[in-house]
Amino acid sequence: METFGCQMNVADTDRMELLLFQSGYLRTPHVEDADLVLVNTCSIRDKAEQKVFSLFGGLKPLKQSNPDLILGVAGCLAQQEQTALINRIPFLDFVVGPDAVESIQHIVQRVNQGEGPVIWTEFDSHKNYSIPEQPLIKNPGPSAFVNIIKGCDKFCSFCVVPYTRGREKSREAEEIYAEIRQLVDKGAKEIILLGQNVNAYGKRGLQQPLAFHELLYGVSEIEGVERLRFTTSHPMDFTPELIQAYCDIDILMNHLHLPVQCGNNRILELMRRSHTIEWYMDLIEQLKSKVPDIALSTDIIVGFPGETREEFEETLNLMEQVKFSSSYMFAYSPRPNTPALEMADDIPYEEKQDRLQQIIQLQNRLTKENGQAFIGKEVEVLIESTTSRKGMSFKGRNPHYWSVMFKGGEDRLKPGDVARVRVEETSGHVLRGSWAANRRRSARGEL
Ligand code: SF4
Repeated sequence: METFGCQMNVADTDRMELLLFQSGYLRTPHVEDADLVLVNTCSIRDKAEQKVFSLFGGLKPLKQSNPDLILGVAGCLAQQEQTALINRIPFLDFVVGPDAVESIQHIVQRVNQGEGPVIWTEFDSHKNYSIPEQPLIKNPGPSAFVNIIKGCDKFCSFCVVPYTRGREKSREAEEIYAEIRQLVDKGAKEIILLGQNVNAYGKRGLQQPLAFHELLYGVSEIEGVERLRFTTSHPMDFTPELIQAYCDIDILMNHLHLPVQCGNNRILELMRRSHTIEWYMDLIEQLKSKVPDIALSTDIIVGFPGETREEFEETLNLMEQVKFSSSYMFAYSPRPNTPALEMADDIPYEEKQDRLQQIIQLQNRLTKENGQAFIGKEVEVLIESTTSRKGMSFKGRNPHYWSVMFKGGEDRLKPGDVARVRVEETSGHVLRGSWAANRRRSARGEL
């Protein structure tokens, strides 16, 4: 199993692994040993698509030498391309969209019975994730993703998600709580609630109506959940109650990923983002006034159709103002089926790359400045794994969602523990330091 793209895809792959395990499949790290290769794909950018085609180019000789090997594509590229994928990769056995996750056993069974290629790209607006009937097959690790809403109703003009994942569908809270209890029983300490537009949770379709902030309060009461996060949010669905939740819920970590996409109102309108820069900055100010040390990250696209140099420079200004701790940064590429496809992609490649390099350089400086503020301080780290890189022993994350590597405590600590770490240096979005003690202060690690 190979996954491209976002955390939703990672969670979908985990879910398919669980279901396929129940059909008798076990994951192998060696593709030569596999009876089934499943690639969960992304179509948000052209580059992610090209990687998938190149991966299947490499798998062709395996299929030729073993015709029984089942090759399947799942996820957003499958949903977008459907039968066209079979034309391009004729040796595929199945092509299934994100809504087919729950049906993966049935699809593989059909291929095993000789049917093929199987194409399944229906949107099933009624079906959602159920909780696993059988126990989880593997330890989820200290940090676990939980899908709470799928799809998106926002229809930003550059984005394929509403076309590949369908309309928003929230999951009943009781199912979410039950899955979280299972994960905690298996050792998870941190829960990351997932959705393409996670804070639209509960806006429609729930039998038991519940707002997103109410769900957060509910999850925070589950025994054993020590840290809580959510991603990805939309500024227009950010309510005052959600800001208040940051103050009330001790285990809600002080980091927020809030995509802004660009710093100019005309481009935001063309992007159909439905918010202005003023709206976004007001939200940031409200948040900072209630949670002064909240770390903020974002998504930025440069070179959107028609973006002038001056409009691009407003993005640089916005980044300077907010001082994001990190950003996902991209040069615009036209995506199939999206409204922006109708607009002339008129920014030359070299200009897009130049703008991209400028925001990367600026973000690198902002990240460095944000990181230096931790030097000499102690941070609480949820240990995710051991490491031997750069003379360090453990790695994990602090409440602000910085990656932290540290040495010390080898005979006392293990993954899943929360350790206090004195930060000594920073490199990129990584803090490095030494174990101070594993004594706890507050869930957010405030001194
Ligand atoms: S909010 Fe916009 S960018 Fe985000 S998933 Fe929905 S359509 Fe795409």
